[in-house]
Amino acid sequence: MYEELKGRVVLVTGGSRGIGRGIVEQLAMQGAHVVFTYRGQQNVAEDVAATLRSQGYWCRAVQTDLADSEASRALVENIEQDWGPIYGLVNNAGITADKSFLTMPAELWHQVIDTNLTGTALLTQAVLQQMMYHKEGRVVMMASVGGLRASSGQANYSATKAGLIALTRTLSHEVARFNILVNAVAPGFIATEMTSAMPEAAQAAIPKQVPLRRMGSVKEIAAPVLFLLSNQASYITGHCLVIDGGLSA
Ligand code: NAP
Repeated sequence: MYEELKGRVVLVTGGSRGIGRGIVEQLAMQGAHVVFTYRGQQNVAEDVAATLRSQGYWCRAVQTDLADSEASRALVENIEQDWGPIYGLVNNAGITADKSFLTMPAELWHQVIDTNLTGTALLTQAVLQQMMYHKEGRVVMMASVGGLRASSGQANYSATKAGLIALTRTLSHEVARFNILVNAVAPGFIATEMTSAMPEAAQAAIPKQVPLRRMGSVKEIAAPVLFLLSNQASYITGHCLVIDGGLSA
């Protein structure tokens, strides 16, 4: 469907599970050369990559903690050396560490900011420097409706997601002249391990809050992300696409 992604190197952070895994699978099926990162679960990650390769697709898994900016910089250099320049970057990896803000230890604040915002920003800087040289590229940030509206107990997380939306807008202006487009998607409640870790009562309340009366699926996020990486989205930059079943409308 998106012929232009065939043979293009796309880096997806946090691709071993959940939304990231869905994006990795859809990209590989379009013929993209997909490199994805994970933090800890090597068996799970290698399984995803090996399964795709056994089906004839191109996929590699690389252990890299997004919070380690030196490791991110090395990753970007190694990808270009080994597999060619990065055409697309999907900044998917993100964590939560929820607690009421009034009693949130500084450590929980830093943990989420360091990974979701600082880690993503510094990885993006390394990738953009490469893309600028090649005069083309696409970046998609995984924000959240938590970055657009109140999300009690998630002050650290929602601050990072609002930060990614702001970063998307500013970077879109800074790199437009190099033919690089930067966009974000803001999912609502999506069925992954992140939402299944929510308290049962909070999970049960989701259908009542969402106008479409259900959680979204991983495929319903992966499809718009692929669109933003494709030629179909060639005049879209600095945009945040909300994908939330109407939750924030
Ligand atoms: P998930 O199921 O918890 O998966 C997270 C993925 O990120 C895993 O592959 C994990 O690897 C990886 N990861 C976590 N920390 C990392 C780090 N420091 N370095 C590298 N990789 C790391 O999450 P998800 O629900 O798919 O969410 C994916 C993204 O969508 C996140 O940014 C999240 O904030 C955003 N989002 C999710 C929802 C939702 O309802 N699910 C809604 C809005 C936005 P390991 O397996 O090795 O730990």
